[in-house]
Amino acid sequence: MTSIPVSSPASLAVFRRILTHGPLGRVDISRATGLSQAAVTKAVTPLLSAGFVVETDIDRAAPSIGRPVNPLAIAAHRAHIVGIKVTADRTYGVLTDLGANVLARAERANASPAVEDVVAAAVDILSSLRTSSEAAIDGVGAAVSGDVDRTRGIVRDSPLLGWRDVPLAAQLEAEMGIPVILENDVRALTVTQLFFGAGRDADSFAVVTVGTGVGCGLYLNGKVVQGSHGVAGEIGHLPLGPAHARCSCGRLGCVEAVASTAAIVNSVRKDKKDPTLEASDVFALAHAGDASAHKAFERAGGMIGLALATLVNLVGPSTVIIAGENVTEYELYEKHLRATFAEHAFGTASECEIVLRPHNFDDWARGAAACVIETIASGGSVTSPVKQHLN
Ligand SMILES: [Zn+2]
Repeated sequence: MTSIPVSSPASLAVFRRILTHGPLGRVDISRATGLSQAAVTKAVTPLLSAGFVVETDIDRAAPSIGRPVNPLAIAAHRAHIVGIKVTADRTYGVLTDLGANVLARAERANASPAVEDVVAAAVDILSSLRTSSEAAIDGVGAAVSGDVDRTRGIVRDSPLLGWRDVPLAAQLEAEMGIPVILENDVRALTVTQLFFGAGRDADSFAVVTVGTGVGCGLYLNGKVVQGSHGVAGEIGHLPLGPAHARCSCGRLGCVEAVASTAAIVNSVRKDKKDPTLEASDVFALAHAGDASAHKAFERAGGMIGLALATLVNLVGPSTVIIAGENVTEYELYEKHLRATFAEHAFGTASECEIVLRPHNFDDWARGAAACVIETIASGGSVTSPVKQHLN
């Protein structure tokens, strides 16, 4: 089982800095971690011996003044991870290395959203990805929308999949024979941004996803927020919408009841009295300047802006990263999003930067892989949390 051969906080901080910011000179690591250069060298020695970190060649073409000597980099090939993203109709998978670089991808249609059919699709994806690599797979990450208990490996409630209390990590592990880490999909995306994206240098940030649902992952004061009961950052279910709007979760007045893809499509179907319209039709209508499609996107944008202002007023992140399938349609709702955000963000909270990170289903799957990398980088080997509980 893959695990880094260090466990002290200093060594873990050094490994993490190299993973997220490498290649880096020892001086830079020392500056970033607050450790002495001697302490950095001590921390790095076992990582070099075990092959998790390598000394790279000096870039002789670069200017020599102040250049670090033999920068340290992660040995990306040292681990191979499969990340799986589950949706109701399809399952997506990527094979990555330790640096979360995507080496191969695969996807399968689910025979149905039933757990056994999704597990079968995931197993099929794993076999397909295995053939594209000689290396053994060190761990599997699985990302599912909804209320997910990562510690116990259980999907407690996923309205989009219609699942309740599904021990998915154990079921996947039994079929795959590889340790599985299960995480909520938006929190998985937050981990990717924290380690490999726009959140690398932020003290606190939020990832807000806009698409099938409206989700939010939070990184505050050095931690990805899990919530005492596993629920946190569910801005899609803030009751900021009209009282009559029914949400996929069954409640009334949720943000998602106005701002999800389904809500936008339903609104245009109703307006045009055409129940056959699909999401792609509605997007095309909006881009062509259709008034009712435009109105639906503007309402969604205003609702998301309201939700963002609520979020920012509550927890004060320095950056909000907007991601999700509907980011490609961002121009249709950006103006209204920014207007309601500016109207309701309190004081200096309005200085919070809103950035866009378009992504697709492979990026969701990469997020699941990043959760396994996070576990490796935390000094824990990828062992099944479910097994730990049973033992
Ligand atoms: Zn809801």
